[in-house]
Amino acid sequence: MPIQRITSADWDAGIKKIPESFRRDCRYLRSIRKGGVPYLLSPSEYARRGDRLLDRLKFDPSPAALRLWAFIFSEKDRLFLAKENGWKIFAVMKDLGQTPVITYSVPKSLSFYADALWWAPCFAENPRLLDEAEKLGATNELCFVRAALGAFKTLDYFPMPDLCFAGVGSCCDDFSAVMQLIEWQGAKVHWWEIPARHDRTRNNISAKFAKTPFGKTDYPRRAVEFLEKEYKGIVKALEKESGSRITEAMLKDSLCRFNRIRELVRNLREMVYGAEKMPLPGLETLLAEFIGIHACSEPEESVNVLECLTEEVKKRIRGGISPLKGNPVRIYWVTPPTDASLITLLEDSGACIAGSDYMISHSYYPLRTGIHPLNAVAENYMDDLMIGSLEHRAKKIVEEASRFRADGVLITGIFGASHCPFEEKIIGDMIKRELRIPVMSFDVPYSPGRHSEQVVNRMQSFIEVVKLRRKKR
Ligand code: SF4
Repeated sequence: MPIQRITSADWDAGIKKIPESFRRDCRYLRSIRKGGVPYLLSPSEYARRGDRLLDRLKFDPSPAALRLWAFIFSEKDRLFLAKENGWKIFAVMKDLGQTPVITYSVPKSLSFYADALWWAPCFAENPRLLDEAEKLGATNELCFVRAALGAFKTLDYFPMPDLCFAGVGSCCDDFSAVMQLIEWQGAKVHWWEIPARHDRTRNNISAKFAKTPFGKTDYPRRAVEFLEKEYKGIVKALEKESGSRITEAMLKDSLCRFNRIRELVRNLREMVYGAEKMPLPGLETLLAEFIGIHACSEPEESVNVLECLTEEVKKRIRGGISPLKGNPVRIYWVTPPTDASLITLLEDSGACIAGSDYMISHSYYPLRTGIHPLNAVAENYMDDLMIGSLEHRAKKIVEEASRFRADGVLITGIFGASHCPFEEKIIGDMIKRELRIPVMSFDVPYSPGRHSEQVVNRMQSFIEVVKLRRKKR
């Protein structure tokens, strides 16, 4: 039977047809509340609670996708519930994918990425968090991640964390500045340093290099040795905060749980982006990819959500079913858009997302077992495309865009971000040279409640160009 994307209003009617047995399974934090807390609500319900953009998006029509949306948008409820029940809450900031593997070794704790608040002003269609941040000194010279500072002030997205882990060093200045302001607001912060991954050059021939086992990235061994020491510092800080010892076995358990989540995300990406007929819309794949970095504050239910989505995708691939009309052109998307409605716009214009570099690609790789867990996490960090040369990131994008048969590449910059203006040209030039496909890049403006007309024109024109080029080929 043909399917198509639906609106939040369609879900209000559709949700009533979901069998009770499915609804019963959609529960989080079973270890706090007997039987867990039900969360399967329509997107419009989450829109009424504040994330108003949900009423302007189009969604996949499957119960599995609804479960994914509801799981992501119920994160703040979990954090408050856990805090009320005496659990430890850790804010992890900046590294995107590694520190949570360590923090989740603490029993009765949840971890969340404060950086994830960067898209909250767009989802809320309200600049309140940005205004709050501005009052505290984080003005629009910084990227949207300054919303995290506003959220530490208002505390309506998360309760005050018991401890924050702030990574600095080989990362952007924007969030380093924001994290300092967060500490000045009274948050308890443990600082740790992220080393740069230098390339082999004539000047460092005496340095010992190795290759990551899964991403095949060259890295200087001393960077991993340094990182492991930093991670030992994180473990000590966790022990002090929780009052209990963290053993190697506890770290291993957490690593294995994350390996299962990473495996599900990795396989899902490969199936979706590799398929001839796109089995899942871009928004759902984007959300699933982000679960890999911190399990959306609930590792146990994350696995259930991803397994359910994977089954749906497999069924569609077997049946050649797609929620997108016709034969959309395939777009590789670089850097996640602050405004999620751009993905709906892209799909409404006759394209689909076939591949992505949302700056978290290291978090899909497995973490090596058979070595000390901290060593495995440090080694995995060397696959982060944001801590090394830009040429390396550009090469990886070219490889993936080619593997997923992209017809064009879209690079969406983040307003005010310190890194983006330099990246876009280098990445774009390499794609044009190596793949000879159209590339477009622009900074996503903040346009609450409606699309910027300039963006609509540019996206639609770009997709027309890509369609014409595909016809000629
Ligand atoms: S500058 Fe870029 S990497 Fe840094 S916080 Fe902003 S979006 Fe994230």
